[in-house]
Amino acid sequence: MFDRSRINAFAKQETPFYYYDIALLEQTLTSALEAADTLGFHVHYALKANFNNRLLERIRDLGFGADCVSGNEVRRAVETRFDPGKIVFAGVGKSDKEITYALNEDIFAFNVESIQELQVIDGLAAGLGKIARVALRINPNVDAHTHQYITTGLDENKFGIAQWDLPEAVETLRKCRHIELVGIHFHVGSQITDLNVFKSLCVKVNELNNWFDERGFRLRILNVGGGLGVDYHEPDAYPIPDFRAYFSVFGEFLERKPGQEVHFELGRALVSQCGSLVSRVLYVKNGIKKNFLIIDAGMTELMRPALYQAYHRIENLTAAAADNDNTDEPPLHYDVVGPICESTDCFGKEVPLPKTQRGDLIAIRTAGAYGEVMASRYNLREEIRYVYSDES
Ligand SMILES: *Cc1c(COP(=O)(O)O)cnc(C)c1O
Repeated sequence: MFDRSRINAFAKQETPFYYYDIALLEQTLTSALEAADTLGFHVHYALKANFNNRLLERIRDLGFGADCVSGNEVRRAVETRFDPGKIVFAGVGKSDKEITYALNEDIFAFNVESIQELQVIDGLAAGLGKIARVALRINPNVDAHTHQYITTGLDENKFGIAQWDLPEAVETLRKCRHIELVGIHFHVGSQITDLNVFKSLCVKVNELNNWFDERGFRLRILNVGGGLGVDYHEPDAYPIPDFRAYFSVFGEFLERKPGQEVHFELGRALVSQCGSLVSRVLYVKNGIKKNFLIIDAGMTELMRPALYQAYHRIENLTAAAADNDNTDEPPLHYDVVGPICESTDCFGKEVPLPKTQRGDLIAIRTAGAYGEVMASRYNLREEIRYVYSDES
């Protein structure tokens, strides 16, 4: 939970910065592991959600695998000493250089997204005298019922191999002497809060699992990806996602064949709630139609609102800590905007907040996933800063 008593320590800190609650991170990770262990499931952490070193070290220490989507993410996972036997590499556009690097590191598997990629990996593995372990990423055409920009498992999306291409993929696999097919892989989207989506996914996976079995492929792994959502509206009421309910859906509906392992790739659900972006109010601009709060964080520090029209809860930490008597005053409404020269540089419109002043500290909550990792130097902004709960 976001600890408001930190306000005094924050007051001396240069803003903006990411604040990471390490205790909450640990509780979240433990909760996910316990729920997965009960059903014998394996969890890989999707590095792209946040590759901050302190967070990665905790995640590695607890025994998670790593799900990477670029050669440099594989490198980061290797350098953080994730077990190479638990590193998987997905992505629609893996370069020869990235594939070669991952082959040399003997990672567990490539999640392959096209027939042509199979041929390229086979050729590169042959050149190195290696056998590449591969899972086919199949587009299941399951609607994730999430924002259109973060849906990945529909026919119109660029990800994965289409089901009608599977016979050709299987023909190709039979010719690839340097590839071992270890499993099938799916990832239907992100910020999924309707568990029925995962039930639909299970139905599809079962169907395809049988399809491969009938063709003589004994799959060791069913990798069902990630995508479990978090509560952006009430981070304090629901700081930890309901992992038990999530994994139970797979426990109930996925039909494992003897010896088959089930793998997951969670990103957002593991790291979102432990991160907040803390910023200071630079200016309060009262217009005729709008009151604006101009803060010192912008889309360069947290791009989700500009990129996906994402909602983040915004709080005035200074007003909350002051604990004054006018808490029963009705809130004012502000458009909370950053300093970047773009109209989409806006964190929220008509945000209800207590009367806010220049210098007040603002927290933008649930920013631990897809926040710091998307920071850019646009406008030649300063390098992102961060503060850990167990260090300040
Ligand atoms: C992004 C991604 C994930 C993680 O998604 P979350 O919504 O953060 O859980 C898992 N697998 C693949 C292949 C991805 O691209």
